[in-house]
Amino acid sequence: MDQLHLLWEYQKADVEADKMEASIKRSPTRQKLVKYRDYLLEQQASMKRIESEVANMADRLEALKDAIRMTDEQLRSLQAKLDNDPPANSEALRQFLSDARRFQNNLNAYEQEVRRIRKDASDRERQQHDVKVRAAKAKAEFDKLKVVYDEEYKEKAKELEALRAVVAEKAQPIEPDFMERYKTIKRHSVPPLAQLYGDQCGGCNMALPSAVSRKVKAGELVECETCGRLLILP
Ligand SMILES: [Zn+2]
Repeated sequence: MDQLHLLWEYQKADVEADKMEASIKRSPTRQKLVKYRDYLLEQQASMKRIESEVANMADRLEALKDAIRMTDEQLRSLQAKLDNDPPANSEALRQFLSDARRFQNNLNAYEQEVRRIRKDASDRERQQHDVKVRAAKAKAEFDKLKVVYDEEYKEKAKELEALRAVVAEKAQPIEPDFMERYKTIKRHSVPPLAQLYGDQCGGCNMALPSAVSRKVKAGELVECETCGRLLILP
């Protein structure tokens, strides 16, 4: 058997093994597992997001506490000034009142923000709890299904292993150049070899110039000019 026909035999085994691998990947159990896994990853991402939001809130609360302390001090020193050195004229009184109002407004705004953050934080806590519950449920489902899948996979993995062994055996007599070519074509066209029917490529069904079939018949290595598959006579 020439290299091209050995490669054709190899391809048959390769296609079988790939089909089995694809069917393992398509298994409904596996797809469900993947869905649970993605869902779990989503929950983990939400958890991280919430955690970082909570951390930001804690930082902001610290800053607000400082701002409140400072404003309190400003108000107190204004009060002390009022006691010790009351405004002497209406201009000074106006200035005093305007300062007092400004400090009080600041204080109110800070306290309002603190209340808002505390409420947000308790919302986050509830969200965190919900996410944890959802993730735990999904994890339990995932684990249950994983047992089923592992059992199912054990059988299929054995079959796949057997098919891959055939592939390896058929690869033995093939020269490295041919194998390299096969693998290169396989990256864009599967399967990489196509039979030539008359002047038509069996891979993509495009008609080829008659010179092509003459070359193939003469034993030359020719690739289909449309799909790039290596052509072989049936
Ligand atoms: Zn083609």
